[in-house]
Order: sequence, then C-alpha cells, then structure tokens
Amino acid sequence: MRKDIHPSYIPCKVVCNCGSEFVTRSTKASIHVEICSACHPFYTGAVRVMDTEGRIEKFKKKYAKKA
Ligand SMILES: [Zn+2]
Repeated sequence: MRKDIHPSYIPCKVVCNCGSEFVTRSTKASIHVEICSACHPFYTGAVRVMDTEGRIEKFKKKYAKKA
C-alpha cells in the first residue's frame, strides 16, 4: 500500500440500540447501529406477529367453517 493515502484501519467498537456491543475493524473508532445480529429477529429466531385487530383470528374462523 502507498503511504499517506489510505485511512488508518483501526479497531472499532460497535454499539447497538439493544445494548450489545462488539469490536471489529474500521476507519472509525466507534459506530452506533440500530439493529445487530443479537437483536434482529432474523438471527434470534423470534417471530412476532403484529395482529392488533384480530385479523388472524378472523381469518382462522372464516376458513374453519368451510373445512
Ligand atoms: Zn442489537
């Protein structure tokens, strides 16, 4: 690499909104993120269904009658 034209590649502390933090390497000393592998449902496996109006129940009732 040529000298003085590259940004320094330093250890970087990443802090997430969920409180999780880990260290990686970047040109910045710290990064703040809103979601990470510790709290994203894709990685946690947690599936939360947003069903505020009972639509799933309505759907189940509707098709239970026909069956
Ligand atoms: Zn997180």
